[in-house]
Amino acid sequence: MLILVLSAEKDAWVSALGALGASGDASGAQRLGLLFQAIAGFAASHVAFSPANRIGVVGFGSGWSEQLLPAPGEALSSAQGAALPHAAVAGFCRRRLGIEVVGAADAGADASSTGSTPGQVEELGEQGAPVAAGAGTSRSGLPSALSRAALVCMRHRREVPGASRRILVVAPGAGTEGAYVPLLNCAFAARDAGVTIDVVTAAPAEETVFLQQVAHETKGAFAPLTRISVKSPLQHLFLCAGPSASARDVLAPPLQKGVDLRASCMLTGERLSLAFVCFVCLSVFRDRHDECPICHTKAPEASAAKRPKLEPKA
Ligand SMILES: [Zn+2]
Repeated sequence: MLILVLSAEKDAWVSALGALGASGDASGAQRLGLLFQAIAGFAASHVAFSPANRIGVVGFGSGWSEQLLPAPGEALSSAQGAALPHAAVAGFCRRRLGIEVVGAADAGADASSTGSTPGQVEELGEQGAPVAAGAGTSRSGLPSALSRAALVCMRHRREVPGASRRILVVAPGAGTEGAYVPLLNCAFAARDAGVTIDVVTAAPAEETVFLQQVAHETKGAFAPLTRISVKSPLQHLFLCAGPSASARDVLAPPLQKGVDLRASCMLTGERLSLAFVCFVCLSVFRDRHDECPICHTKAPEASAAKRPKLEPKA
């Protein structure tokens, strides 16, 4: 089972994709059309490769997420035609991004057959909200969308035991700064359930720190689009997210060169290399607090006084 988590943040997409090419090349909007055309083709071909393969599609934007495939209550063990994932992605593009995906033979079926009715869209609740006041202004729907994808994976594990499950996040990358805790919680839950999360982004590495960590924690591939791969996004998707977990041992997909493992301050959202950590709830803070602002545990007063002073060795 492969679940696509797709971003509908059009402005961020156009900006990030536009920055990937020289002036005179295709515009960001044109590249966005090419990318989602490739995603629709990738989804259809994944199902066509094997009758056992299944595709899920979850969309998200700023403050919302929606599950397009599978429809609620749909059995995950039955075979899925290649047209259905293609139609789900095409419908998502048309409604959320204003893009027409070519080749959607039965795209008109997306609204009825995939359950993508307006009732499926939900505003974010606690999952996407900042953990504490001032923890950043982002209301990215990605944590909520990842939670939906994880729930589908759990259903799939119950209905089709023994099969593998993966998630592929395709997002511009920026806008997740305030979602450190919910994103990493999703990653830890996916890792414990044996679900790999691959990530394809378009933003500079500095803006995709937490997505790098999500891929790293789940042993997935972090594969940002480059000036070259943005011209052939379908090939990029096949290279990075095509192989199953077992095939990756043999095929050796591109490795993540380095991972930025900096954490985020729970109060300010600032990225930190050195931080104070609550010894009870493991929350991370930029400044020292006598009482943890999250779990209200008091720091042991005596520990600082009793701590032996370390002299630097010559
Ligand atoms: Zn605490």
